[in-house]
Amino acid sequence: MGKLDNVQKILLIEDNPGDAQLIELLLKDSDFTNFQLIKKDTLAGGLAVLGEEPQIEAVLLDLSLPDSSGFPTIEKLLAKFPNTNFIVLTGFSDTKMGLRAVKAGAQDYLDKGKLDVEKLSKSLHFSMQRNAILNRLEETQELAGIGNWELDIDKNTFEASKETFRIFDFAPDEKVTPSDLKHSYHAMHLLDQIHKEAAIIGKIDKYFRFDTIAKNTKHISVQCQAIKRGVNIVFQGVIQDISERKMAEQEAIRNRDRYLEIFSQSKDAIFIATLEGKFLDCNLATEKLFGVSRSELLSSRDANDYLIPPEKRNELFLKLKFQRSVVDFEIEIKKETGGIRYCIVSANMLEDDDSMTYNAIVRDLTEQKRNEDLVKARDLAQESAKLKEDFMASISHEMRTPMNAIFGMSNLLGQTSLTQEQRDYVKSIHQSSEVLLGIVNDILEIATIQNRNLKFDHEDFNLKELLFNVVNVMQYKAKEKDIFLQLEIPKDLPVILKGDKLRINQIFFNLVGNAVKFTDQGHVKIHVEKLGAFDGGIHLKFIVEDTGIGIPKDKLESVFETFSRVRTSDRIFEGTGLGLAIAKNLIDMQGGKIGVTSEVGVGSKFFFDMIFELADSQEGINENIDEIQIPNDLKFNLLLVEDHKMNQVVASKTLKKKWENIDITIADNGKIAIDILKEKHFDIILMDVQMPIMDGYQTTHYIRHKMPKDIAKTPILAMTAHAHIAKDEKYKEYGMDDFVLKPFKPEQLFSAIFKYLQKQIVKIN
Ligand code: ADP
Repeated sequence: MGKLDNVQKILLIEDNPGDAQLIELLLKDSDFTNFQLIKKDTLAGGLAVLGEEPQIEAVLLDLSLPDSSGFPTIEKLLAKFPNTNFIVLTGFSDTKMGLRAVKAGAQDYLDKGKLDVEKLSKSLHFSMQRNAILNRLEETQELAGIGNWELDIDKNTFEASKETFRIFDFAPDEKVTPSDLKHSYHAMHLLDQIHKEAAIIGKIDKYFRFDTIAKNTKHISVQCQAIKRGVNIVFQGVIQDISERKMAEQEAIRNRDRYLEIFSQSKDAIFIATLEGKFLDCNLATEKLFGVSRSELLSSRDANDYLIPPEKRNELFLKLKFQRSVVDFEIEIKKETGGIRYCIVSANMLEDDDSMTYNAIVRDLTEQKRNEDLVKARDLAQESAKLKEDFMASISHEMRTPMNAIFGMSNLLGQTSLTQEQRDYVKSIHQSSEVLLGIVNDILEIATIQNRNLKFDHEDFNLKELLFNVVNVMQYKAKEKDIFLQLEIPKDLPVILKGDKLRINQIFFNLVGNAVKFTDQGHVKIHVEKLGAFDGGIHLKFIVEDTGIGIPKDKLESVFETFSRVRTSDRIFEGTGLGLAIAKNLIDMQGGKIGVTSEVGVGSKFFFDMIFELADSQEGINENIDEIQIPNDLKFNLLLVEDHKMNQVVASKTLKKKWENIDITIADNGKIAIDILKEKHFDIILMDVQMPIMDGYQTTHYIRHKMPKDIAKTPILAMTAHAHIAKDEKYKEYGMDDFVLKPFKPEQLFSAIFKYLQKQIVKIN
């Protein structure tokens, strides 16, 4: 018996003052040195103290009280305070009542008649200890979720600990007897089943899952054994609530399954390996990324062989060792099947491990990187193409201006009286400058096309006029070579179409130019065929046929490629090999298709088709081009606005050759031109674009907007060496009627001037 340090509170419920005093005296004589006796003389008084004072260690209870008498007294108290230590005081050797009280839950009973210090002290000590042990047992059971019970079928008793009641969701004061086992609710069935099994095999140890009457799902582990007590068979059982553990286990399984699913389905390679390179686990994506089967990776491969370059791998491992984890670290994976993949890896060292193990998630970014590289390359290409085009444009412009002089001057020089030798030299200069000009134009054009920078006009144009013009211009070349150039157009062909006149013109010039160039005798024919017509549109086929040198079969495929030339030893000026490439590109971009058939020594046939929208009216631009003849005896006033002395001479001499009677006034810049215009009437103005003081655009704008009406309406033709003028159409914005590209072919200049002079006449009429 340990020393009792704290004050021990004892409640005495006794209505007889004599008995109460006796007990108090006995207690004082006992070994309870530090106690406090609380005395009450009614059941109600006792109940009140118990309700307020939880630390009562024992209750000495007289069963006969003014407000309650006999067994019900203890019954009432136990019902309210089942864990309290009650010692029942009986009178007149009423042991029966005392035993009954103990059975019901009292710890002991004392006969008041035989009471002495020793008996009282012993009973108090034992009951306190016993009660403490029982309470501790209850607490332990509750803590462990373990309950016990005993079932005696013969005696029809079922006794169970509080925890058993809790597990089965029985109310604490629920009366359960063996006959209740036949009740329908699950716990009862379960107990019934358990004890029946134990009856047969003696001892059972089982796991059950069941739903209580309160619909709680419980997982329990049960042990039950049948033991003999006298003649009776008693079933003793232990039940443990393992619901939480089970649920945690199930959750863990579910989690594991989920992670396994992610692991196996992941598109990223996930693996676990040691820093020394031993693979411990990996998923399907790892097999794919590394190009080796999982079993091989795990059994015979070194993870470190795949992570390259070695410096990067070392850096990764250093970071892992010191920082424990890395995120989005760039590394390359050397595939076993060849090739290198660009990846990022996120990895963690595994904590509980001395073997330096890490897990890694590797994402393959090769395709993405490739796309990024492609985008970069494309941007670079576009940028350099733009630079190239700008460079070409400015170079071609710079070259055109001096070439205009060479071209024009050699033309004029050729018409003066020269010796044969001089004439040959001049001819050679003239031809070379023509070729050079062609090259400059072609290079500029292909640069623009390849940059996909072309925009196509969708404006009305006269197809017949366009074709006649091609023939007119090429005729003079054909005549030089004594070949016959012929145009065949079906009579019913609609002539006013919508499209890009300049581009179509260029296609014809390239094809017909080649035909004339590569034909030394015979003819060049241009046919137009109608392939089909539909509402508002027409499908046309154009054929340029020659009787020239032809193209070898094996070269036919490649003639449309850039810089392709079919080499022949006897030809010096073969061009750049760009003409057909330009034509093909222009046709493709307008939705058409070009083709060629040819036979060496017999001739070639180039053809293409294109769909055109018909112009709303077929009348608008109906000039009788069949009969266009530019008369030589025209008389008109022309203002030439040009700062370049050489070009002034070329233009005026060329014009005077054609039209002896024209009056040409020269202005060195726009400002002078305006002053002259105020004084004199002109039928047409030729306007250089780039000039000092006041350029062609400014001057035209001034004439159109600031000068009297009759001056403002004078036709103005721009003259420029800048081929871009046609593309950006700036000349139209500033009010110019048309343009002539320098260096100009005399015929082009004449027909442009004539066209506007004629229009004026029409207007006047
Ligand atoms: P080029 O500017 O050199 O004429 P093209 O692209 O126009 O370049 O033509 C490429 C090559 O195709 C020419 O160099 C020539 O060998 C061949 N070729 C083109 N047209 C004809 C043709 N009508 N007859 C024979 N060969 C031709």
